[in-house]
Amino acid sequence: MESYTVNKISKDEGFFGIYGGQYIKEELKIEFDNIYSQFLKLKDDEEFQNELNDLLEHFSCRPTPVYFAKNLSKKSGCEIYLKREDLNHTGAHKLNHSLGEVLLAKKIGKKKVIAETGAGQHGVAMATAAALLGLECDIYMGDVDIQKAMPNVNRMKILGAHVIAVHSGQKTLKEAVDKAFEAYQNEYKTALYAIGSVVGPHPFPSIVEYFQSVIGKESREQFINMTGGLPDCVIACVGGGSNAIGMFDGFIDDKEVELYGIEPLGKGEKIGENAASLTYGREGIIHGFKCLLLQNEDNTVADAYSVASGLDYPGVGPKHCYLKDIGRVKYRTINDDEAINAFYELSRTEGIIPALESSHAVAYGLKIAKDYQGKKILINLSGRGDKDIDFVLENYPRKF
Ligand SMILES: *Cc1c(COP(=O)(O)O)cnc(C)c1O
Repeated sequence: MESYTVNKISKDEGFFGIYGGQYIKEELKIEFDNIYSQFLKLKDDEEFQNELNDLLEHFSCRPTPVYFAKNLSKKSGCEIYLKREDLNHTGAHKLNHSLGEVLLAKKIGKKKVIAETGAGQHGVAMATAAALLGLECDIYMGDVDIQKAMPNVNRMKILGAHVIAVHSGQKTLKEAVDKAFEAYQNEYKTALYAIGSVVGPHPFPSIVEYFQSVIGKESREQFINMTGGLPDCVIACVGGGSNAIGMFDGFIDDKEVELYGIEPLGKGEKIGENAASLTYGREGIIHGFKCLLLQNEDNTVADAYSVASGLDYPGVGPKHCYLKDIGRVKYRTINDDEAINAFYELSRTEGIIPALESSHAVAYGLKIAKDYQGKKILINLSGRGDKDIDFVLENYPRKF
């Protein structure tokens, strides 16, 4: 069987099947190929590994545990396990690749990292890593998102990052990526573009995947230690796809383990109402790479929407598109209401408030529990929900 494990890539400029690639200026290709070859060298360098592992362990609190959700299991009739990425410093898996990217930038002599952020989670993780490692940090953020996620904007400022407001178009994530990329093209000699997911031109999807693969590596080992075997299925939510690909990397060669990637169905199936790129997207190019992309009838990029702002990107990581085509991962959807229900359900039954993004994965686990009676389900809990509590109480209040 072909092995799909990490970094078996980069024949043909980082294509996964027909997806991925580098749809960028020649000048940048040279720079990106240079970054990639330095990355490949560093990742096999003992000193780099030691430094990264030390940060992951002592700064970000890894390994994060796999937790057996006893109450939820009892209620649902199957064994539900949660990989607790919410326990990372700054509250989500995003610090895994942020620490990696900033350490990479530092090692290859860059003075600054440039990044985009939607709800501010990637921005906060980057600002944190940059503060720790002593690099400058410019974060581009849509003006609408800035107004919505003020606490994260303030965190970034306290951490010493420059938050640059983007006023074009919808004033959200897509425009923030456009602007960050534009800025980077003028500063690439001294800065590194530190993208927030397994998206963008080669080599970024592969670099981010490498740093996130720690999730799956740990999970597989922890799960076997806990239960003596493998889970029957593994579930993760998919925005750009970094927490999911990092988790799937641990199990992709275990054919008997079913893998589910969960996309946000938002308010419905119509273009503009969701952010389910793998489900409703068509082949297209965005931000320098090819993927399944949400598009309007005239092939312009469609608006993406989800109640979880960390999931509302119109494109998706190229490797997910490939894994869908070859059938190794099943991609399914969960809508806003189902995610909100799961948000409350996990909070009430286990005392864990999940991020709205992660709630999509939890919701799918609860949905398929009837088909997995007596079996073992592992869910990647990508982040904690503190950032979402005001929004949920205001917009989806519950009487108990
Ligand atoms: C950003 C974010 C996501 C979505 O990003 P991926 O690259 O798809 O993982 C999911 N969960 C949380 C908690 C996030 O902050």
